[in-house]
Amino acid sequence: SREWHLTARPQGWPEPSGFALVEAPVAQPGPGQILVRNTHLSVDPYMRGRMNDVKSYVPPFKLNKPMDGGAVGVVVASEADGFAPGDHVLHGLGWREYATFDAKHAVKIDPDLAPITAYLGVLGMPGLTAYAGLLRIGGFEEGDAVFVSGAAGAVGSQVGQIAKLKGASRVIGSAGSDEKVRLLTEEYGFDAAFNYKNGPVHEQLKAAAPDGINVYFDNVGGDHLEAALSALNDYGRVAVCGMISQYNATEPVPAPRNLAYVLTKRLRVQGFIVTDQSDMQPEFLKDVSAWIRSGELKYRETTVSGIENTLDAFLGVLRGENTGKMIVALDA
Ligand code: NDP
Repeated sequence: SREWHLTARPQGWPEPSGFALVEAPVAQPGPGQILVRNTHLSVDPYMRGRMNDVKSYVPPFKLNKPMDGGAVGVVVASEADGFAPGDHVLHGLGWREYATFDAKHAVKIDPDLAPITAYLGVLGMPGLTAYAGLLRIGGFEEGDAVFVSGAAGAVGSQVGQIAKLKGASRVIGSAGSDEKVRLLTEEYGFDAAFNYKNGPVHEQLKAAAPDGINVYFDNVGGDHLEAALSALNDYGRVAVCGMISQYNATEPVPAPRNLAYVLTKRLRVQGFIVTDQSDMQPEFLKDVSAWIRSGELKYRETTVSGIENTLDAFLGVLRGENTGKMIVALDA
């Protein structure tokens, strides 16, 4: 079985030389354990933070040990009650082909209810991030105008669509290619969208939101956040979900120059981590699975094949090569 190790901590953009795909024996399950053959791995932006040796809300990856992350797979051997070979499970030991672990850390998933990759994306962690981030942290209310950055990605594409479904007056998205921008307005029902690489975010947002915005869902930070602070109306809210524009920065990044708007416009700016929002899981699954079934909520995935391409897939997320959730499919 092969597994990915981090062998050197990156400075700036991760270099392939700091990673190794390593052969490791497959452990047979002990009492209460299962052996899972992973079929799909998740690669996510937060994993960049785990490559640094800093204290954060998840511990750093250890050097020369298997990396981990979201994965779905099939049980091949079980010593645990309630799990049988052939069961599909969601768990946290990704970046590897086979995983042996205590079954209490696995969640059984039903492949007849949704494609199993959906549990890594639209019905999984990024989906709950979008749902809780917009509705709770962003304090979304019917009639709000919402701006979301990273809008063609896993989280962002769902934020914009949930806002529309919950009665937003206007939804604006930004993304990094003209093709992604077209997808936002033509398929996902955004009212306006722009390519942040085509001109200053500040000007493009102003043109897209002539009456201002009430909620900014931030996936990006930097000039996006600064532009949003200018566009926000009084009592606006910012849900700080991610700051992907600075994950590879080697120096501290300057704050928005117009931070004084937080005061003068009485804004609320709140960061959040999805793992603290699990109480919203039942409501999230009920709403989102119904919207998927009815066709009201659409989603895409970008699939890269082969364990050997997992690092490329991860770097692809940082470069914007994905539309919707980035998934690594492993060979059967
Ligand atoms: P995405 O599917 O959105 O993929 C990341 C996207 O970010 C890329 O496709 C790229 O799209 C965009 N991007 C990369 N670099 C830049 C840049 N410099 N400026 C603007 N956009 C950039 O990933 P996720 O949906 O999984 O995550 C989105 C955000 O949410 C991330 O910031 C992530 O860290 C955060 N997050 C936070 C969670 C929490 O608990 N707080 C949980 C999950 C995710 P493009 O082509 O448009 O540039």
